[in-house]
Amino acid sequence: METAQETSFVFPLNVVENSGDHAHSTKADHNLSPFKLEGAEESHVTHCQEDDMTGMEGVENTAKQAGENDLCLPCKVCGDKSSGFHYGVMACEGCKGFFRRSIQKKIDYKCHFSGNCAIERINRNRCQHCRFKKCLAVGMSKESVRIGRYSKRVKQSNMDEIKRLSSKPETAAEREARERHEMEIYTLSQAVLQAHNLTCEYTKEKVDALLQQQDSIMMRLNAGEDLNIPPTVDYSKWKPEERSNSKVFAWKIFCEAIMPCTQHVVEFAKCLPGFLTLQQEDQMTLLKQGFFEVWMIYLSPVMLSEERLILLGRDNVFARDFLARMETPDLWRHIFEFATGIHQLRLSDTEVALFAAITIMSGDRGGIKESKQVEDLQEKFLECLRREISRREVKDNHLFAKVLMKMPLLCSTST
Ligand SMILES: [Zn+2]
Ligand SMILES: [Zn+2]
Repeated sequence: METAQETSFVFPLNVVENSGDHAHSTKADHNLSPFKLEGAEESHVTHCQEDDMTGMEGVENTAKQAGENDLCLPCKVCGDKSSGFHYGVMACEGCKGFFRRSIQKKIDYKCHFSGNCAIERINRNRCQHCRFKKCLAVGMSKESVRIGRYSKRVKQSNMDEIKRLSSKPETAAEREARERHEMEIYTLSQAVLQAHNLTCEYTKEKVDALLQQQDSIMMRLNAGEDLNIPPTVDYSKWKPEERSNSKVFAWKIFCEAIMPCTQHVVEFAKCLPGFLTLQQEDQMTLLKQGFFEVWMIYLSPVMLSEERLILLGRDNVFARDFLARMETPDLWRHIFEFATGIHQLRLSDTEVALFAAITIMSGDRGGIKESKQVEDLQEKFLECLRREISRREVKDNHLFAKVLMKMPLLCSTST
């Protein structure tokens, strides 16, 4: 019952008695309802003609059932009459079913037009690709299809939306402006994620592989095999005097090891919408000063373990006691603390990518010429991250703030 209740947001007019869970639809809620209460007594009829998933969605209370005339909130995807909140968004039965099927069957649609078809009630079946994209852009959540529930936070924001829309319905122009903005933010998030997937060696998938490799190396070490770690680098090309100064030597090896990552961060930045429009000097400044911070964000998932080893890459194994040779215990303590903090936030790839983009786009770096332009770009990425986090299933109301609070720590560590 719990699941059913959690799955679909129930309109506040709901006075259903078929589930104890509904008891919290209080009088106060009713007063806020944009819908009249007439007809509400019929509203416990489950509305699932195209769903077999009654277990998950059965207790949906639809506005339609509350009486045709009561309906004033349109489907956010196609503008048709909505039947309630589905997967986090006010949507019609058609779009609800379409979204669910798309996720469950993992369908990969293609657009046969230019990739930005307008989705309206009358043509919503014409392009599935663009309809699905719009579902995501207006905030439908894949997670809630899988998990079958969404957080109090999403419910609360749905309530707020009902209140807002019922006091002042959206005009056509407002709707258009909102849709354009939502699509812009969604497209930007996708572009940043794509840049991340193309360039980063520490996406979730790759990190999983690294950690597995780390486990197997640890097993071999524990079994007594001599794997000769840390010398993962060809010592022979180092001059004798370099080798004798263990600190300098350690730093050189370390810098060489993270060199490929520098290139990846540069590539990532270049793919960020807007980065190449900045003047070249500023691009350089942002990269120079931001690289180490981005590197720390990327590396967080492999840094936290108390293991003796750190895998910076497939063939890039560092023993932890090797790091001590760099004689910067404070730096490493900071890095490990930061990594642990980041790890606890359980960021998705999209969130990591946006966090990295925000870090690069810092208008307050020393020597930036056009800081306003950089800040404007950063603001967009911040909005993407805010949106991404607000749709999370994890009940963490302060996550956005927590992520941002990591930034000063980042800066202090990298300087
Ligand atoms: Zn619709
Ligand atoms: Zn299309």
